[in-house]
Amino acid sequence: MFKRMRSLVCLSVAAALTTPAPAMANSLDLPDIGTTASSTLTIAQEMQYGDAYMRMLRSSKPIVNDPVLNEYIDSLGHRLVANASDVKTPFTFFMIRDRNINAFAFFGGYVALHSGLFLHAQSESELASVVAHEIAHVTQRHLARSMEEQARRSPATMAALAGSLLLAIAAPEAGIAAITATTAGSMQGQINYTRSNEKEADRFGINTLSKAGFDVNAMPRFFGRLADEYRYASKPPPMLLTHPLPEDRITDSRARAQNYPARRVDPSLDYHLARARIVARYAGIDAKAAQDWFNRTEKKAAPSVKAAFQYGKALVHLDNKELDQASSILNNLIKQQPNNRFYLDALSDLYIAQDQANKAQSMLEKALQSAPNNAVLTINYANSLVKQDKNSEAVKVLQRYTHDNPEDVNGWHLLSEASIHLGLSDEDLAARAEILALKANWNKAIQYYTQASQLAELGSLKQARYDARIDQLMVQRDRFLALQ
Ligand SMILES: [Zn+2]
Repeated sequence: MFKRMRSLVCLSVAAALTTPAPAMANSLDLPDIGTTASSTLTIAQEMQYGDAYMRMLRSSKPIVNDPVLNEYIDSLGHRLVANASDVKTPFTFFMIRDRNINAFAFFGGYVALHSGLFLHAQSESELASVVAHEIAHVTQRHLARSMEEQARRSPATMAALAGSLLLAIAAPEAGIAAITATTAGSMQGQINYTRSNEKEADRFGINTLSKAGFDVNAMPRFFGRLADEYRYASKPPPMLLTHPLPEDRITDSRARAQNYPARRVDPSLDYHLARARIVARYAGIDAKAAQDWFNRTEKKAAPSVKAAFQYGKALVHLDNKELDQASSILNNLIKQQPNNRFYLDALSDLYIAQDQANKAQSMLEKALQSAPNNAVLTINYANSLVKQDKNSEAVKVLQRYTHDNPEDVNGWHLLSEASIHLGLSDEDLAARAEILALKANWNKAIQYYTQASQLAELGSLKQARYDARIDQLMVQRDRFLALQ
């Protein structure tokens, strides 16, 4: 330990001699560094790993590309991030369709929530306590720190370890081989945090919860319930494997919660709407069972959130083509909250199912006036245009949308559809190439763009745009491959 500290001091002195002022800050940062430069990831590198990881996940995991749910988890996540300390990266929240309770965070501020989490969290504060805990793993750089620790104990470099972890998470079988190769065997392709990491994440998380206006007691309550439920289970949920819940962790978080002022938090309608949407569409249960669940749960629910169960029932009717039933519920709900985007989205689907896409268009145009550029409204609006064969108009909307939301595959899918209707094969190829690139399928993406370029008029602006994109994708591909 002493030896390493000394060599670090030497390094920083050497740096101070050869470079101007910035190195001075090192004297303050010293205890925090604790590793040699080659075994530390910079924030910029973490962002690169995060981006690569997200692309691999998109191609290997059932990511939920649901604009309404994305908007909900994004706003919940960012409400917490805004109240967290030490935030150094942007955050991206996304959902994986998986009934096992789990949440995990990766380099670059990527936080995944399993849909199953919503089925067990009984309030928004309970869900928020898990998200706040994950945010703390990121802000406290637990993953980077544990890998730095690992790099110190093995001949592998930090980059090799990060690369194997990347492979292991996205493609478990390939990853285990890679990990053995870099002698990082103990990592086993999982993000294993230490007990002290867990407690630290709870401590920071509970502070964030309080500052963001959530019920701090939700953390010990939810964790306690999970521990009780799975105490004797032979197969605990993945979250308890990567974030173990020993009794002292629950006791600690309970004691900590008592240090914060007691607060009555009203049930969140948005949380219950998101949960109802998951039960109706992503829980893999049949219509009858879903309706039973809504009926049963509605009886026990607070009056202020009962609308969520109506909404859930309407979605099941809608997806079952029982349009009259869906219509009467949704029209009643929208009267209560004319700007509610859960309802606007469902009504838009209903109108389209009723062959009245024009009604969806005018409803969404009106809604967009008070929330221009909103992703949920815009994507539904573009869809209503495509369904009316107003493809040129749709393309205009979607070009702006994909520019603003390049990582939303929904925009690219719709753009591809509208381009096909217009007979624009090159535009279709380009849109599909973007989806492939989002899934790290670089070669095929480049191939599609090459075909698009060949179809475009020689020397045209369009061709120049395609060619420029090919160059960018080649650079991105090389950078991506270098990470592994
Ligand atoms: Zn944890």
